[in-house]
Amino acid sequence: MSLIEVRDVEKTYTMGSMAVHALRGVSFTIAPGEYLAIMGPSGSGKSTLMNLLGCLDKPSAGTYLLDGEDVSQLSDDRLAALRNRHIGFVFQQFNLLPRANALQNVELPLQYAGIHDRREKAVTALAKVGLADRAHHRPRELSGGEQQRVAIARAIVNEPAIILADEPTGNLDSRTGRDILQVFDDLNQTGITLITVTHDPDIAAGCHRVLHMVDGKLANDVNNKRPGGEAP
Ligand code: ADP
Repeated sequence: MSLIEVRDVEKTYTMGSMAVHALRGVSFTIAPGEYLAIMGPSGSGKSTLMNLLGCLDKPSAGTYLLDGEDVSQLSDDRLAALRNRHIGFVFQQFNLLPRANALQNVELPLQYAGIHDRREKAVTALAKVGLADRAHHRPRELSGGEQQRVAIARAIVNEPAIILADEPTGNLDSRTGRDILQVFDDLNQTGITLITVTHDPDIAAGCHRVLHMVDGKLANDVNNKRPGGEAP
């Protein structure tokens, strides 16, 4: 079964008397464990699509099924619950709380989910990204790459099926960026589905599949997997 099924999805923003058609009938499915990039020029609808996939917004028309559940029909509370259960977010700017240390940052989603036993899960998530020895550092005491690792630990601490990443290496030098991509590769190997919006051809080259958006439509859906099934 598909983990994600997007069918004829449209998103129209109303700006005063003007309608902006950000998505104009997009359809695709994503299977569990896929690793894919969404690319396209500025204004092509990538962020809009990510917001929909991340249950931060609902389509104006069409349907989005996440793990079989029709997101288009849910109340905001149900949408938030679905998001917390299924999705971890990673951003270009890391978005860590500056006054909280790494461990406290990673514990946050557990706090939102009302989970009491947080410490052990947060320590495990930090260890998974190779940062167990930085647990008590605050963001400003960490390098950019380390901050992004903390953000990834925060994204995986709830054990989501999907990670949505928005230009995750955009603020990093190329070597640190490659280290972060290695963390993503390792996570994908454990079965997590990874969806990344990026301009970076290096990221796209490492993905199994690339969705190219142009003018609110899916212009191209490229499968990078070799016929044998192994990713290049
Ligand atoms: P991308 O991420 O590819 O740059 P976006 O999804 O941000 O593209 O934007 C697609 C189109 O929708 C653009 O024309 C943009 O101006 C418009 N848009 C995006 N968000 C909003 C919004 N909240 N309100 C009005 N128009 C928006």
